[in-house]
Amino acid sequence: MKTVQLNDKTFEIYIPQNEIEKRIDVLSQEIVNDIGDTTPVFISVLNGAFLFTSEIIKRFPYNCEVDFLKISSYVGTTSSGNVSLTTNSIKASLENRNIVVLEDIIDTGLTIKSLLNDLSTYSPKKISIATLLFKPDVFKFKNEIEINYIGFDIANDFVVGYGLDYNGLGRNLLDIYKLKPL
Ligand code: 5GP
Repeated sequence: MKTVQLNDKTFEIYIPQNEIEKRIDVLSQEIVNDIGDTTPVFISVLNGAFLFTSEIIKRFPYNCEVDFLKISSYVGTTSSGNVSLTTNSIKASLENRNIVVLEDIIDTGLTIKSLLNDLSTYSPKKISIATLLFKPDVFKFKNEIEINYIGFDIANDFVVGYGLDYNGLGRNLLDIYKLKPL
């Protein structure tokens, strides 16, 4: 089995690049069909969503804006539960716009919940959420927040690669890896 070593931890291959790309083809087509030619604003949640964002944007054939927010709630391999907005730099006017939030992974949902609260104050027309990875077993807002586009449902494992890091490393891996059990 293919593994990578990042600092003190070993990770094993979980979702290979070709499967990720095939799934992004499907998701992006769904987004195109639903949102259409309405000049949406894609809001990418940094750092982890940068690769996913670029793949979704490359497949979007109409005019759109792209903006970035930097948020972090993870320290090491667990969610701190403490969401901090480290950059608030949305330049696009969001009023009456279709917003598509692009996330790398939704875990407890605390990050997306706090982001939705912030974004709704700008009176957008609609906010949709697309995430490459989703951990349904730990998501706390099942009856409250609808995740519109999900790449892969995964178990409650710590994953890296395809934009996701462990203490800053692993974002450049083109496959997704999970922490190898000891
Ligand atoms: P939530 O607020 O939903 O608990 O966590 C969302 C954020 O935590 C993600 O945007 C990501 O930065 C980080 N995160 C959650 N699960 C993982 C994981 O398995 N691996 C990595 N690298 N980051 C994760």
